[in-house]
Amino acid sequence: MKNGNVKLDSDVAQTTPPKEELKGLVFDVQGHSVHDGPGTRTTVFLSGCPLNCIWCCNPEGLFHHPVMLYKESKCVKCGRCIKACPYGAISVIDGKLVHDRTKCDVCETMECVGACLQEATETSGKYYSVNDLMQIFKRDRQFWGSKGGVTFSGGEPLMQKNFMLAILKECQKAYIHVAVETTSCLATNYYMEVMNYIEWVFTDIKHMDPDKHRELTGVDNKLILKNIETLAAKEDWNGFIVPRIPVIPGLNDSDENIIETAKFVKRIGLEVINILPFHRLGESKYRQIGHVYKFADQLPPTKENMDRVKKLIEDEGLVCFVGYETPF
Ligand code: SF4
Ligand code: SF4
Repeated sequence: MKNGNVKLDSDVAQTTPPKEELKGLVFDVQGHSVHDGPGTRTTVFLSGCPLNCIWCCNPEGLFHHPVMLYKESKCVKCGRCIKACPYGAISVIDGKLVHDRTKCDVCETMECVGACLQEATETSGKYYSVNDLMQIFKRDRQFWGSKGGVTFSGGEPLMQKNFMLAILKECQKAYIHVAVETTSCLATNYYMEVMNYIEWVFTDIKHMDPDKHRELTGVDNKLILKNIETLAAKEDWNGFIVPRIPVIPGLNDSDENIIETAKFVKRIGLEVINILPFHRLGESKYRQIGHVYKFADQLPPTKENMDRVKKLIEDEGLVCFVGYETPF
């Protein structure tokens, strides 16, 4: 799942959802994406995730509510936000602004964002109605071409169950091709139901060992593997599943784990694996949400390492795509 850096459509988004209308919490919308499925796509990043991967590149998407981002590089220390904050959450220590995140992370009003004239504070996560998103899709549709469509990413895009079922049904009615980038860590009944509206599934397999998987992500992999296997066997579903391995040197790239993953994928009747090299692009986001990035010393895989992983997968008789430059 990638970083989002395109501004949200503030003209259609609201920070507070009216109770009577179904809304989804979205932390980014990107048009013209060519890495998230076939053709050119509009990618919607939904907040919330059942996993907590230690390398997550979208940590602002782990929240189940809007969150305040602080970009120190833009801050001119004018103090307007300090005066505006009704909760006394900001203090200046050694010339730096420090936010009390126990207050900010439950703050619903975020007066500091409106007070800042430098865009050094920002709200990540806005509520969109089904109609809000459909309007964006209608606007973008002309750029998708014959193969493109919409990709729901996150966070875990399928976590906001009622909202997702509603928007997916609308996409199906409008003949929009839908892809998801999912953890597959969802109740099996719901996972199978929601897939009736989805044609393309990127699903991570982060580790085959349940204990290692729990160490890396906070949950074991049993439900994830069960769901992928059940979906692959679903006779009345004609979608395409692309298992993805985020390759993280020393953590999940051993020959043993890669071969075991490939054997699993082959056994359940799938034919491709997409391997993605770990990167540190999410590092600044951790600072912006007031968290420490624990992966600062983790190196990305070398080309030789990616070639080795690719060969191991190909030796099992599967097609292996490297990175986001896939031929889809
Ligand atoms: S997010 Fe809320 S609590 Fe935090 S500084 Fe802004 S106004 Fe204050
Ligand atoms: S209002 Fe903006 S620029 Fe001024 S101190 Fe606060 S974050 Fe920095």
